Amino acid sequence: MGTVFSNVNVWTPHCESTAPVDVRVEGGQIAAITSPGSAASPGDDVLDCAGMLALPGLINAHTHVAMALLRGCADDVPLHTWLEEHVWPIERMLTPDDVYWGSVLGLVEMVRAGTTQIVDMYFHVDAVGRAVRDVGLRANLSYGIVADSMDDVGRRELETAEGVVATWHGACGGRIRAAVAPHAVYSCGEDVLQAAAKLAGRYTVPIHTHLSEAEKEVDDWSNVHGVSPVATLERIGVLEVPTLAAHCVHVSEDDIERLAAHGVSVLHCPCSNAKLGNGVAPIAAMQRAGVNVALGTDGAASNNNLDLFREMRTAALLQKAIRRDANILSADAVLEMATENGARALGLATGTLAVGAPADVVVVDLECAHVQPIYDAQSALVYASHSDDVVDVMIDGAFVVREGNLMTVDEDEVRSEVKVRAGRLRDGMAHPGTAA
Ligand SMILES: [Zn+2]
Repeated sequence: MGTVFSNVNVWTPHCESTAPVDVRVEGGQIAAITSPGSAASPGDDVLDCAGMLALPGLINAHTHVAMALLRGCADDVPLHTWLEEHVWPIERMLTPDDVYWGSVLGLVEMVRAGTTQIVDMYFHVDAVGRAVRDVGLRANLSYGIVADSMDDVGRRELETAEGVVATWHGACGGRIRAAVAPHAVYSCGEDVLQAAAKLAGRYTVPIHTHLSEAEKEVDDWSNVHGVSPVATLERIGVLEVPTLAAHCVHVSEDDIERLAAHGVSVLHCPCSNAKLGNGVAPIAAMQRAGVNVALGTDGAASNNNLDLFREMRTAALLQKAIRRDANILSADAVLEMATENGARALGLATGTLAVGAPADVVVVDLECAHVQPIYDAQSALVYASHSDDVVDVMIDGAFVVREGNLMTVDEDEVRSEVKVRAGRLRDGMAHPGTAA
């Protein structure tokens, strides 16, 4: 038995929808795309999607989903104050169960907004993995390694990272994969970065890291080392491994050439970069140089939401504003960043709606007043639609959201668990040393 999205308009990379079609799904794959009324077989579950648009599931290419629990804990401060004085002290209070419930909260927010796949970096990763399993998304999971050198601390960090890969790479029928994630060049010694790259190579998984996010970070690094963080990663051989680099806000033309030459995928997080006062990444220049740029939200503590519809709109607007050029980063190009480019970064076949592709399908209502009338579907999606317009979300052939209802976890339970835990964290912030 299959599922048919009947009479639906489709947006998919490089293919303009000209008329409604039927999209039939069977066995976790898109089995057929045919003219309306022709796809259903006896026994199929047929959804009438008149007035709606189907697109490939959105891919959040850089996040720390559990940080949904820290949403709003520290706003309006710069990156290093935010990290050192607010986020890290709170994170030291987090238990694996906190990370589980924070992750469930973030995943529910994301899937309701049409995100079907995430690239995550955090700690207590087994708890993140359990949350991904329970809510039903696809994910690439990694442990954020922080160590000055390969001493006892460094070796323990690498062991933890390897444990995540061994446990989660290929889990849940392949829905979950893994990466090795040295947090950043400034938080990991050279030998740690090299050991991480070797580990990634051994398991054939990518490196996931933060790179050249803040101007001060890059200036300080360059003053001490004489070369940029990107050039450092190149010199020590890390970029020989497929690399996913979040941010890349402060990169020179030479850096961009290096990123292109090594096939690095840049994970662009425009809202987080703007909110932390870090600037706007030169992604139009990167794309001209042939760099694959995917789109992420970063964590909810620096965004403060995990909504890729807002992120797409912001990405397009910021790039046009800062370049004073309305032509760059079209609606189509930004949709490709949020779908196909994310899949390309991960080496996966998701991010498209085509026969044989994995059935990650998002259906959006285009009849809402704030979207009507429709002259151009991609314009509607990027510039006018809200994530609340998402009606159905199918991942790997299974509905996770259907007709606006979440199918996998109890949202009331999620909300009450999160409120209790946030209360404890608030008390811990007010009285340091008292919270477990
Ligand atoms: Zn991040």
